[in-house]
Amino acid sequence: MDLRFQHRCSQCGADFFLGEAERLLHCRYCGVKSYLTAAVPFHFVLPHQAPADQEMIFVPYWRFKGNVFTCQASRVDFRFVDITQNAAPGIGVPESLGFRAQAMTLKLLDPQTEGVFLNPVLDLADILAKVAKLDPQPARETVYHRACIGERTSLVYLPLYRQRNQLVDGITHRPLRSLEEEENIGPQLSAPPSSWKLKTLPTLCPVCGWHLEGEKDSVALICRNCERAFGTASGEFVPLRHAVVAAGGGEAIHLPFWKLTVTCSNPLIASFADFIRVTRQPRIPPAEWEQRPMSVWCPAFRIRPKVFLQLLRAATMAQPPAAGDAPFGLHPLFPVTLPGSEAAQTLKLVLAGLTMKKSDLFPLLPATRFEVLDTSLVYLPFRDNGRELVQSCVPISIDKNALDFGRKL
Ligand SMILES: [Zn+2]
Ligand SMILES: [Zn+2]
Repeated sequence: MDLRFQHRCSQCGADFFLGEAERLLHCRYCGVKSYLTAAVPFHFVLPHQAPADQEMIFVPYWRFKGNVFTCQASRVDFRFVDITQNAAPGIGVPESLGFRAQAMTLKLLDPQTEGVFLNPVLDLADILAKVAKLDPQPARETVYHRACIGERTSLVYLPLYRQRNQLVDGITHRPLRSLEEEENIGPQLSAPPSSWKLKTLPTLCPVCGWHLEGEKDSVALICRNCERAFGTASGEFVPLRHAVVAAGGGEAIHLPFWKLTVTCSNPLIASFADFIRVTRQPRIPPAEWEQRPMSVWCPAFRIRPKVFLQLLRAATMAQPPAAGDAPFGLHPLFPVTLPGSEAAQTLKLVLAGLTMKKSDLFPLLPATRFEVLDTSLVYLPFRDNGRELVQSCVPISIDKNALDFGRKL
């Protein structure tokens, strides 16, 4: 389930209630369009009504919603994970926020908030590894690789306060545990972490000043005026290398894919022909594939994990021709909702998923090293045949219902 948060229009002060993934705002009062971003995951706080004279203590919880893929035994598995887990455990507060985070409207953490902030002791990878171990399925099977492809990652602070010798929940006002006289709780900061700062960017092209286009949950925006695409990094818009493959006749929509040009050591993969041999595909690579760089093609949109893996494998095997320099024109473009940084998590998955003899490859995975030489966003044209979207040059198709469902994840 998605969390919701409150945000105030920086122009007119109107309040918005946004879904966790929403970044592009259009204020219906003052008409201003803006994009919310930050250099670090978003920091939220659960709203509290503790007595005003109390010094608040804020406990960090990692919030992760996404899929955890594992390469274990001789298969690639996946599991949907939707958690909020205490990042500073061992202080006698609940491990998880449970349904509270979903039942309340969160606030973005104001960097001016006064109080004591506990430092996260666990990073997100620790938490996900712990969660994965609780899964009864992989009993005694070796997990050779685990990839977490996050759709939502943030930090949510639970407010507490000290009342006499009790540590009290700032929302329910129930005591959580008793405290010693001068007891300090965990490693703490006297103010919110300085790395957290919300940036509100106007949705104007940094190059030509035209309006940037995207959906509420887009992680990349485009300028149809100067033909550029932008993602964000360190709280700023940054240009993305992109290509649009020209549509033939009757194409309905362009879907975005991250094309990662890679090499790999152990097993050695320098070309697409190497990839065919390493994964033991039942075909002899033609001579020109020896010169063709290896590219992994990852859907740049959220979609059910099973379909995500199918598309990742199909598009990578197809190596679509991406020498696209067609303009955006007026083509409908499906929004980019999966960041390029998450696409980089798929490299070992695609190798594992396409390898015929998994028992030989999987033990190599912990030592497998990919190097990403280039990342670009490629829009491929798809034709609508009623039930499916079908790519015309290469054998990739996608169920339209799966695409719609992906938008609601
Ligand atoms: Zn406004
Ligand atoms: Zn522009």
